[in-house]
Amino acid sequence: MKTVRLLFGLLLIAVWGLAACAPAGAGGGQAQGAIRVLAVETFLADIAQNVAGDRAKVESLMPIGVDPHAFNPTPQDVRRVAESDVLILNGAGFEEFAEKMLENAGGERLVIEASAGLTMRTADEAMHDDHSIESHVHMVCAQLEGKQPQGEVTAAANPEAAPALHAEGEHAHEREIVTLKLNLQPDGTYAGSVRFTSENEAGYAFTSAGGQMTVATAAGAALTPVQALPLDCSPMTYGVIYKLAPGEYIVTLSGLTTETTPYSAGPVHAHTEAGADEHDHHHHAGDPHFWLDPLSVIKYVENIRDGLIAADPAGREVYTQNAAAYIAQLNDLHAWIETQVAQIPPERRVLVTDHDTLGYFADRYGFTVLGAIIPNVSSGASPTAQEMAQLIDQVKSSGAPAIFVESIASPQLANQVAAETGAKVVTDLYTHSVTAPEGKAPTYIAMMRHNVETMVAALK
Ligand SMILES: [Zn+2]
Repeated sequence: MKTVRLLFGLLLIAVWGLAACAPAGAGGGQAQGAIRVLAVETFLADIAQNVAGDRAKVESLMPIGVDPHAFNPTPQDVRRVAESDVLILNGAGFEEFAEKMLENAGGERLVIEASAGLTMRTADEAMHDDHSIESHVHMVCAQLEGKQPQGEVTAAANPEAAPALHAEGEHAHEREIVTLKLNLQPDGTYAGSVRFTSENEAGYAFTSAGGQMTVATAAGAALTPVQALPLDCSPMTYGVIYKLAPGEYIVTLSGLTTETTPYSAGPVHAHTEAGADEHDHHHHAGDPHFWLDPLSVIKYVENIRDGLIAADPAGREVYTQNAAAYIAQLNDLHAWIETQVAQIPPERRVLVTDHDTLGYFADRYGFTVLGAIIPNVSSGASPTAQEMAQLIDQVKSSGAPAIFVESIASPQLANQVAAETGAKVVTDLYTHSVTAPEGKAPTYIAMMRHNVETMVAALK
C-alpha cells in the first residue's frame, strides 16, 4: 500500500513538473511529434500506438513473451526510460519496480498510469482460493448457526409491492433469518418478492429452504449472480451471491414447494476482526489485470490520450481522433465477445487459470472464477499442497471443463490438476504479452479475440 501511495506521489510530481515546463516548450524548441514514448508492457505499447498513430512511435520496455510479474529492469532498460519523454505504465501496483526504475532514470518525464481512475477489485475479490464456493458456503452456514427466524413477513405477489425487511434506519450488516410467507402460483409452487437494501459490501448471500432466487434493481432490471451456493445448513438448502452497488433491490423467490420458507440475506464476508481469518491476510495487493476487460481499456485509452496531449499539445487533434477510433474498435470487440460468450451454456462459464488474471473479464462477461493454480494476483507465488488439494476438489465438484494457462506460464501444476480431475489444460491464452507479428496475438485486440475463441472452444 505504501509503495502505491509513494508511486502516486511521484506521478503527481512528474505530471506537475511537465505542466510547469509546457508553456516554455510550446513556444519553440521541440520538433512537432517528436516525443519519445515508452510503454512498459507490450500490450500497453500496442494500445498506446493506436492513440499516437503516426505522430509518435511507441516502444515497449518489455520484450515480447516476458512475464511482467517477474520483470526486473536492466541498466539498459533504465537508460531507455531516461531517454523517454513519456512513460506509460499499467499502474495499480502491477509494476512494483517502477518507482525505483524512475528514480534511477532521473530526469523529468510524463508518467501516464493507464488504469488511473478505474476501481480495483479488492484483494478479497481477487483471492479466489479464499473465496471458493466451498469457503463461502462455510462462511454463510457459520453466520446462520444457532439463529432463529425473527418473525414472519408476507412476501408480495407483485415485485413492485415487495416489503422491506429492515425497519428504517436499520442496517443490513448482519445476517438475520425471517420466515417468508409466499403466494400460491398457478403451477402449484409458491413465490414472492421482498426488498433488500445494499450498503456496498463486497458481496451479499441470500438463502432459503429450496426454490430459487433472482435479484433485480428497483426498476426491475434482472442482475447476474456472482456465485451459486449449494448449501446444506439445515433448513437452508439454497444460496446465491450477488455483488450489489448501494441501493434498493427486489429479491424474488420462486419454485418453492411450501408456503413458508426461512430466508436470510446479509454480507457474505462478515465483519470479522483483523487476524480472525489469517488466511485472508496473506496478500494486500489488489488486482491490476484491468486490461483483460476491453471496456476498462477505454479508460486506458482516455488516460493515454490526455497524457499525450499534455506532453505534445500540438497533437491534440490527432490524439483525440485516434483515441475515438480505437475506442470504437474496443466497443466492437466488447460486442463481439458478448456474442461469443453467449455460445457457452451459463453453467459452463467457469474459469480456472494459472494465477488470478481474469477477474475483471469474468465480472464483465458473467463467468465465475472458480480458482487459480497460483491463488494470487501475481504469478510469482506458488501454491501450498493444501491449496492444490482444495483446487482439485473444486474442479472435481464443479465439473469445470478446462484449466487455462497463460502462454508464458508453466503448465506443470495445471497438468497435475488435470490428471486428477479430468479437466483439460488449455495452454495458449495470451494475457500478459502480445506475440510477434506472425504469432496468434500480435495486437491487444487480436490477443483478446484469440483468448475468447480459445475459451469458447474449450467451454461450449
Ligand atoms: Zn498477472
